[in-house]
Amino acid sequence: MEKIIIANFKMNLTKEEILSYIENVKKIDNNRFIVCPTSIYVSLFLDEKYSIGLQNICEYNKGAYTGEISASQASSMGIKYVIVGHSERRHVYNETIESITKKINEVTSNNMTAIICDGELEEERKNNKTKEVLMKQLVSLKERENDNIIIAYEPVWAIGTSLTPTNEDILEATEVIKKESLKYGLNNVPVLYGGSVNLNNIEELNKVENVDGFLIGGCSLKPENMLKIVEVTKK
Ligand code: PGA
Repeated sequence: MEKIIIANFKMNLTKEEILSYIENVKKIDNNRFIVCPTSIYVSLFLDEKYSIGLQNICEYNKGAYTGEISASQASSMGIKYVIVGHSERRHVYNETIESITKKINEVTSNNMTAIICDGELEEERKNNKTKEVLMKQLVSLKERENDNIIIAYEPVWAIGTSLTPTNEDILEATEVIKKESLKYGLNNVPVLYGGSVNLNNIEELNKVENVDGFLIGGCSLKPENMLKIVEVTKK
């Protein structure tokens, strides 16, 4: 099965850069390639053959929430995926497990797939709390509407830092996620790895058996990097 490859642009790239990106990734040969641009650019991507995801969604379904986007609005635009609970949302915008749970419910009940990001802080890893943290975060799976779920294991200390866990650590964490998801009735949930994936480490990271794909931030901003990553992950 092809690996799921997700590009998370975060708050990067201008319209001109996006247009050139679209031209350059046309050659990507992977039906599970998903681009998550900054929301205002979404319509620039809609005619492309790959899928589009949002980086966040509102936990409420409509009304007086200035600046927010609802899941039904996203779905009506043809969006298929939404990242929920990215560490920057949890730690910079103080999102809670309760609000993430509501967001997952909104996304899944509007026929989209939630890409849920879970992972421990550096301190938590040092104190051997990774498993406990993941189990706590995965409680958010309980109120989903269906099984349209992808989970990304993203250790917070590895995001944007050039640091990555060992393959053994990734295997262990992704096993915890798969086992714990089963408790919530999720069989065979795809589990990705994210955090400082780049051209130098992708070959090695791709060897972890349990990993169904990658969620990529910084390195995804250059289309040529994504072409290479798709090629490497085919092996
Ligand atoms: P990074 O970001 O690849 O730049 O570390 C990953 C992410 O935030 O999902």
